Amino acid sequence: MNIILFGPPGAGKGTQAKLLQDKYSIPHLSTGNIFRSAIKNKTPLGVKVKSILDSGQLVPDETVVDLVADELTKDKYKDGYILDGFPRTVPQAEAFDAFLEKNNDALDAFILLSVPEEELIKRILSRGEDRSDDTEEKVKTRLQVYRDETEPVKNYYDQQGKVQEIDGLGSIEEIFERITSALSVHKTV
Ligand code: AMP
Repeated sequence: MNIILFGPPGAGKGTQAKLLQDKYSIPHLSTGNIFRSAIKNKTPLGVKVKSILDSGQLVPDETVVDLVADELTKDKYKDGYILDGFPRTVPQAEAFDAFLEKNNDALDAFILLSVPEEELIKRILSRGEDRSDDTEEKVKTRLQVYRDETEPVKNYYDQQGKVQEIDGLGSIEEIFERITSALSVHKTV
């Protein structure tokens, strides 16, 4: 079962991905977490992307696509995965499709978590994750980047008839229940 969990910053993707990981026993892959951990450990990747994450802009497609393709070939992803934060541009989505095709694999579900913008800002500013990009100014940049570069990814998967839109307002449990019932239509779950 290969799932994309999609939505703007603050929609709850990370929280829900962790719950899905436990329920379906398939790993959660967050590109943002990989970048943050690389920055913390001052690896060459971390040094390269630090100023980009700090600014709220996107890491170049090629870097992200290579990273994800490398990561997904690890054994732990062989029974499926939950992608959180990838793909974030149409070229990334196209590259991911090519990757799936090359590996004789397919995407099972594309879950879009919908949350109004005022609520996103409120959530991010109060989540206390100590992220350098969680300030009011950076959040505005990230939301703008989402609208300009990431939202078109939804249209890309719409054309494939894959988008399942979930109301992202409510308690964590309520939202989780909506996601799992949306996923239950897929035979592989
Ligand atoms: P996130 O934790 O998903 O909010 O990601 C934090 C930051 O990591 C983003 O603001 C980007 O700078 C970078 N990032 C994460 N995933 C991607 C991606 N798929 N493409 C480009 N940049 C990314």
